Amino acid sequence: MKEYEIVVGLEVHAELNTNSKIYCSCNNEFGLEVNTQCCPICMGMPGTLPTLNEKVVEKAVKMGHALNCSINRICKQDRKNYFYPDLPKAYQISQFDVPLCENGYVDVLVDGEEKRIGVTRIHIEEDAGKLLHSNNFDGSLVDFNRCGVPLIEIVSEPDIRSSSEAKAYLDAIRAILQYLDISDCKMQEGSIRCDVNVSIMEKGTNKFGTRVEMKNVNSFSAVVRAIEYEANRQIEVLNNGGEITQETRRWDDAQGKNILLRSKEDAHDYRYFPEPDLLTIVLEEDYVSELKSQITELPNKKIVRFVRDFGLSQIDAITIVDSIEKCKLFEDTVSENKCSPKSIANWILGDISKFMNDSKLQISETKLTSQKLAELIELIESGKISNAAGKKVFDILLNEDKSAMEIVKEKGLMQISDENELEKIVNEVMSNNEKSITDYKNGKTNALGFLTGQCMKATKGQGNPAKLKELILKYIDEH
Ligand SMILES: [Zn+2]
Repeated sequence: MKEYEIVVGLEVHAELNTNSKIYCSCNNEFGLEVNTQCCPICMGMPGTLPTLNEKVVEKAVKMGHALNCSINRICKQDRKNYFYPDLPKAYQISQFDVPLCENGYVDVLVDGEEKRIGVTRIHIEEDAGKLLHSNNFDGSLVDFNRCGVPLIEIVSEPDIRSSSEAKAYLDAIRAILQYLDISDCKMQEGSIRCDVNVSIMEKGTNKFGTRVEMKNVNSFSAVVRAIEYEANRQIEVLNNGGEITQETRRWDDAQGKNILLRSKEDAHDYRYFPEPDLLTIVLEEDYVSELKSQITELPNKKIVRFVRDFGLSQIDAITIVDSIEKCKLFEDTVSENKCSPKSIANWILGDISKFMNDSKLQISETKLTSQKLAELIELIESGKISNAAGKKVFDILLNEDKSAMEIVKEKGLMQISDENELEKIVNEVMSNNEKSITDYKNGKTNALGFLTGQCMKATKGQGNPAKLKELILKYIDEH
């Protein structure tokens, strides 16, 4: 049996979070009443002319910089002609042969290894409307609100070799889009959609097989399933002596399989031509480099750094970086230089994440700050307060304008770690519990739990448990 390798290329369509649409001043907002956010321009009425929204170019160029692309300072827009009921103009304004950005790459972490995935191009285009279906109506309805919503399409090179690499690439793209405030990336609202190209090639060769495209796969986990299904389907076809044909298939995530939609169209089928109603885009060099200077450390780089410098696991680093707010809290708390980054990560992924999920609040909506968190963790790490006391302090920190130390003092939560002080207490408790000591010596090991409990009680719950246990065993040994 021949062995095959999976080859995947991804086209990500991301809706930009500009205030207005790409060629008119209509609101670019999701979820408003159908057909209320459109005008003669975005509906392509005769006699109207589009005007390019500068913010669209700005966001696309920023993404280009983030993905290490070269920026085409002179480029044009083109008409892609096709009919569909949600496209009133019967063409979409896109970019054909000269995209705004091209020849880039992104580095992602896959199973602890950095992998570079090429980015062929990023171009700007407009979205189409949306077909709606209702049980009360025997046909399709169309909502034009989404017509003219700005999109960027990010096309990868066929560098992806597994479904987990595809997932890592998509996670990186999504995180960058969010960090740079380019897209809100709400999958459930369709602001990120993905076309998946899959082929297989024989292991040890460099000859790509015929690729099959699956359009509009609407979640990243569905992309993973779609890739695995399609690769297996192609392997089976080849193993049975068949041939792969270039075609478009529709991924049905609920059924976990895809079905043939049509044999694949080629670019020339769309009769692209330069959009005559729009001027050539000309970007000044200063403008392009100014946008580059606005880009700070990107999330994919942060993940690598957190694993390398702070010893976080890959999954923990990804989970923290995935949320801009958690990542900021992590980095700010680390920079306080009071406690170990690993403990900070554990707090953020544990109690803080739980609080955010339960309360539906962001950290910025509470009284917790990086200074307070650093101080709290320092108190625990140094043994001044117990873990349990730490959790009590944390609950108060969220709601009150006090420092961790102030709360500890106020509530009397300071842990007794002073050996002399603890020893005095242990000696007294033990001399009153001679029977339990004898029991313990006779093999009743649970007597130790009882003795520890008595000592803890005598410290009003503030004894350092590890030290108490140590002193109790020492006492038993000596008596
Ligand atoms: Zn409009």
